Amino acid sequence: MKSLVLERKDALSLRDFPEISRAEEALGPRDVRVKLHTVGICGSDVHYYTHGRIGPFVVNAPMILGHEASGTVIEVGAEVTTLKEGDRVCMEPGIPDPNSRATRLGMYNVDPAVRFWATPPVHGILRPTCVHPEAFTYKLPDNVSFAEAAMVEPLAVGVHAATKARVKPGDVAVVMGAGPIGLVTALSALAAGCARVYVSDLSDAKLEIAASLSQAITPVNIRSENLVETVQRETDGWGADIVFEATGSPQAAAQVFEPLAPGGCVVMIGGQPDPISYDAGAAMVREARVENIFRYAHVFPRCVGMLASGAIDVKPLITRTFSFDDSVHAFEVAASAPAGDVKMQIELPQ
Ligand SMILES: [Zn+2]
Repeated sequence: MKSLVLERKDALSLRDFPEISRAEEALGPRDVRVKLHTVGICGSDVHYYTHGRIGPFVVNAPMILGHEASGTVIEVGAEVTTLKEGDRVCMEPGIPDPNSRATRLGMYNVDPAVRFWATPPVHGILRPTCVHPEAFTYKLPDNVSFAEAAMVEPLAVGVHAATKARVKPGDVAVVMGAGPIGLVTALSALAAGCARVYVSDLSDAKLEIAASLSQAITPVNIRSENLVETVQRETDGWGADIVFEATGSPQAAAQVFEPLAPGGCVVMIGGQPDPISYDAGAAMVREARVENIFRYAHVFPRCVGMLASGAIDVKPLITRTFSFDDSVHAFEVAASAPAGDVKMQIELPQ
């Protein structure tokens, strides 16, 4: 099967990949076989390409990239009851051990044994077909496109973050960072009931996209504007009920409590490869609640439901689409991080 293979750091090729066959392609009784349609390019895919590793996960052997996917069911295992051939679906890329302690406690995303697409040594899905458990494959309503469905994976991070924040109707939130995850977090916070979301970034192009998503989003360019002063001024000096940290920048993380209201909640979303410091005193005087998220759990059906109803519209975030034949080029473009792009996707031949 022709696949997009990360051979090693800085080297991609589109080639046959016989290594994937057998075990990984065997259809178990509760599995489905999916023909891939659309795959989003994630920051993590690009990071493996440009750095060859993310923290402890190192690319030591050729690996297929991609984990944000939608497609069509082409075969079902003998015991599958909820899906049938021809169903349009999106897939949750992390498969936990069903018997692990974390899974039994409902926290399957933090199961140390979770197998997650395109996290070495597990292959991703920039390939024609894959086999996936029925339990982590979700049927799409007719009015949700394959492109939107491939956005469910990043959207799930924002929805999980808003869930952890326990948003109340009328809350004011700050989202630090206007990258794809910052923007899906802003949309999720609004869908959860926030009255206003301040989105901060250094890039005008990204902030323009943020502002275009909703009248309830206020962009703040921290090159020219002081985020804390803006939030304080517009909340009568009280601050924001929730601050979402979606930059992964140690400098931003060091300031997460400054715009926060007393009794507020900070949600740490951005990955931090190294230990960072933050102002524990500022957290203390606010009795701040701090939440951390790792990917997501139990939110894919909710995301699909919100796309179907129009409660969340991710279409403005999909800024470029490449054909599968052009996918090496797509990654080169993604690695150059064009300021005006949010999510780039690859379409596989059908
Ligand atoms: Zn992703």
